[in-house]
Amino acid sequence: MKIIFLGPPAVGKGTHAGKVAKGFGIPRISTGEMFREEAKAGTELGKKLNEYMEEGVLVPDEMVIEILRSRLGRDDCREGFILDGFPRTIEQAGALRNITATDLVVNMKASHETIIARISNRLTCRKCQAIYNTLFVKPKIEGVCDKCGGELYQREDQKPDIVKERLEVYERETAPLIDFYRDKGTLIDVSAEGDVEVVHKRITDAINEYIKGM
Ligand code: ADP
Ligand code: ZN
Repeated sequence: MKIIFLGPPAVGKGTHAGKVAKGFGIPRISTGEMFREEAKAGTELGKKLNEYMEEGVLVPDEMVIEILRSRLGRDDCREGFILDGFPRTIEQAGALRNITATDLVVNMKASHETIIARISNRLTCRKCQAIYNTLFVKPKIEGVCDKCGGELYQREDQKPDIVKERLEVYERETAPLIDFYRDKGTLIDVSAEGDVEVVHKRITDAINEYIKGM
């Protein structure tokens, strides 16, 4: 299966893309995570990527597309993959089509209030990038990752001004992809409201339904 997860920042794409990928035994490919890893490594490319990310603007299409193309060319993608955070522009969607066909787009939806609540209380693990929320998905020990013991921090791009910018960028650049894929008949809408397990079931039910009709 080759699945794209679409949705605004903090809707829960990363969490759910990860769970679904695990279920299918295929990789989850998160461009945001790849970029943060590169930034952490301190390479020239990483420094450039970090500048865009910290401002909450998109990394230029040419850069993203090249990085993605080489990632999708790796062996572990042969049986399929889940894309989380790519494509984010019509340009990227066009490029993706030239790289490989995809089966399905899962469009995660939530109210503006839900998104703001999720994003502004979000903490990320410095070591393994696991995501927590001080309201809904609390770590067992404050400030410490359950999975790896790493330190939790608030990402620069999760501060209020930057969040506002990212939501605007999403509406302007990424939301048009919803109609783009809907017109092709490969898009399913899933409500992202509610607990992680409830949303996960909605997503897997919708995917299974889709597979039956394939
Ligand atoms: P979130 O999951 O919180 O929405 P991501 O981790 O997916 O955020 O992305 C963080 C940042 O990385 C984005 O704000 C953007 O600057 C950059 N980025 C990630 N994916 C892309 C992409 N496909 N195109 C352009 N920029 C991207
Ligand atoms: Zn961790």
